[in-house]
Amino acid sequence: MSGILVVFETRAGRISRISWEALAAAQRLAAAQNLTVTAAIVGADTESLAAEIASKGVPVVVVRVDHPLLAQYTPDAFTLALQQLIQSEAPAYVVFPHTYQVRDYAPALAARLGQVLISDVVDIAPQTGNTGPVFTRQLMQGRLNGNYRATGSGPCLISVQAGAFRAESSQPAATAAEIKSFTPTIEAAQIRTKPSEPFRGSAQSVDLGSAQLIVSVGRGIKEAENLPIVQELATALGAELAASRPICDNGWLSMDHQVGSSGQTVSPKLYLAVGISGAIQHLVGMKGSQCIVAINKDPDAPIFEIADYGIVGDLFEVVPALTAAIKAAKQ
Ligand SMILES: Cc1cc2nc3c(=O)[nH]c(=O)nc-3n(C[C@H](O)[C@H](O)[C@H](O)COP(=O)(O)OP(=O)(O)OC[C@H]3O[C@@H](n4cnc5c(N)ncnc54)[C@H](O)[C@@H]3O)c2cc1C
Repeated sequence: MSGILVVFETRAGRISRISWEALAAAQRLAAAQNLTVTAAIVGADTESLAAEIASKGVPVVVVRVDHPLLAQYTPDAFTLALQQLIQSEAPAYVVFPHTYQVRDYAPALAARLGQVLISDVVDIAPQTGNTGPVFTRQLMQGRLNGNYRATGSGPCLISVQAGAFRAESSQPAATAAEIKSFTPTIEAAQIRTKPSEPFRGSAQSVDLGSAQLIVSVGRGIKEAENLPIVQELATALGAELAASRPICDNGWLSMDHQVGSSGQTVSPKLYLAVGISGAIQHLVGMKGSQCIVAINKDPDAPIFEIADYGIVGDLFEVVPALTAAIKAAKQ
């Protein structure tokens, strides 16, 4: 048994950003264990997606797991296809992005293989001595970290949390990746569900998970009528608008704007937190951001503990000044 298999995921026909983060995690594991990495892309016609992975110059072999019955996601078909691929490739580790889709089928896949799934991993510590690597996952809304080590034989399945591994940390390879095909055996009768259109919360639903710039607003804004101040800053920056839970609970913004343990997990290049205190339930959703800027009038607000840059001040003064400065700089 050798190597690491990374299972890529697509959304609306495109490779999702968290798949690249899963690849970065696999590469970290590979470097520590001296293992090779294979990327699997599952679907009905994966030629261009496989070529996209191969063209990134990362040191992987790309496997196209192609079958007409994989055109649309179903847990039965994906479980069958990946079970066969894993049994054929016999990897030491299988790395998934921790998405809703993976949460849907990966536990069944692990059970079929007689393995455990270490889910929502936020860190990987390399092997020490004869013991394998340690996988860290968060417990109790991020208050505690739990360390896990695979002790059984057979492939170890892990899924990685969005934002925990930087996609940019993938190590580029000098040579182009090899692409090969794997055709699983799937019968239509084995698929027990009929897929419908993927769920979207509302017509104007925001995809914060793939946003590069986010301006997020909290209870410091005081009233719904004041939201345009922050919206204007987001527009000037070309950023998505997000919020802490009270803003969404109050109905000032729709629920798909909420960041945190009961909202979305985000990992943008810039997360600008305006009038947000930094409760643990909010932090677990945004701490993977590359650069965190906080504006808060309380110098002891917990958000400053994880902020890269902090502005202690009244948001009603700071935000309009910042918006004006950004607009001026763009002229
Ligand atoms: C099970 C559970 C799940 C939860 N899930 C989530 C979740 O997914 N997401 C989430 O966000 N929360 C979640 N919460 C709620 C969380 O515990 C906090 O209550 C919430 O994050 C606080 O939001 P806030 O920072 O906007 O408000 P507050 O904590 O009230 O903070 C407001 C901040 O604004 C600052 N401020 C006030 N006026 C100004 C001003 N004029 N200028 C500058 N700063 C100012 C204050 O100093 C303060 O720090 C959850 C709670 C539970 C129990």
